[in-house]
Amino acid sequence: MQHDFYRDTWVEVNLDAISHNVKSMKHHIGEDTEIIAVVKANGYGHGALKVAESALTSGATMLAVAFLDEAIALRHSGIEAPILILGATRAADAQLAITYNITLTVFSLDWLNEAKQYIEAGELQLHVKLDTGMSRLGVRESEDLATIFNFVKESSEFTITGIFTHFATADEKDLHYFHAQYEKFQELLRAVSHQGLLVHCGNSATGLRFPGKLYNAVRLGISMYGLSPSAEIKNELPFILEEAFSLHAKLVHVKRIPKGTKVSYGATYEAEEDEWIGTIPIGYADGWIRSLRDSDVLIEGRRAPLVGRICMDQCMVRLPYEIPVGTTVTFIGKQHNERISVDEVAKRLNTINYEVTCMISSRVPRKFV
Ligand code: PLP
Repeated sequence: MQHDFYRDTWVEVNLDAISHNVKSMKHHIGEDTEIIAVVKANGYGHGALKVAESALTSGATMLAVAFLDEAIALRHSGIEAPILILGATRAADAQLAITYNITLTVFSLDWLNEAKQYIEAGELQLHVKLDTGMSRLGVRESEDLATIFNFVKESSEFTITGIFTHFATADEKDLHYFHAQYEKFQELLRAVSHQGLLVHCGNSATGLRFPGKLYNAVRLGISMYGLSPSAEIKNELPFILEEAFSLHAKLVHVKRIPKGTKVSYGATYEAEEDEWIGTIPIGYADGWIRSLRDSDVLIEGRRAPLVGRICMDQCMVRLPYEIPVGTTVTFIGKQHNERISVDEVAKRLNTINYEVTCMISSRVPRKFV
């Protein structure tokens, strides 16, 4: 349920865009390849529940999150679709995963031995993670993989329903490492019988660029949200991605300050002439961090610069002329013919688009349109 909110700052999430991106990917990869919608980190900051619902009605068959907490929250919100936890889960929580019908990622025999002791009833579904070059989580050797498969075969507590890996460089122009990882994945797969399992290796970049290399599922994250996996491949996408995320606030105070007047903490900005200054109720506690000082926002369809230091809950903008209190200011998104993309903000912060949508804090309400 969407809660009421009482502040003039909000993220707008366009669920039609999510739906468009999922359907486009589905069309691109074909009927036989499933879509696992990645909604970890509150749906990359968009709102996990609404995104999950949208993705599932648009063709996704499974969800993925990072932690058990995220999966249980989705269950409590009424999500019944299969959910895969991509990260490590405490062995002590194995029974909880069974209770909530959540699939866990496994990558060590020790973990299985420990988890076995905690399982009192039911069967835990597992996807086995293979480390083919990320060096993050995963089984690295064929022998260890075969041992895990044999152990599970002999145990009534577990069933393996999937096997997967993750690429480190699928979004880069240079594909040497990608192909090496793909070969390693093939080699490890040869060590076990994977018939009937969900076999998946691809993230958004792999799905977009190599639809023929996905086995039978793709884990669709960033591009479900309408964003390119990297700037490098932005110009070679096979279909149009629709950006779902925008960020807005309303002017809460507007004043004329005389030339020489200082603005905000540290008094680091000084009006060069008589200026119109607007105050906006968003600050670094909302994720609009101090490094974004001097960045542009959109107001009445044109760009205007933030001036002075960004405060915890507010910041100031230099207006081109007197603009009424209550006027919408767009930090990310479109106004008339002007647009500030997530990528533009990422570039300014010297980071990736993933981080930008994730960093807008939970204090900012999400509105779904
Ligand atoms: N699979 C795993 C294991 C991940 O960690 C992630 C994201 O970090 C994804 C899939 C989704 O990747 P992307 O957002 O690039 O599609």
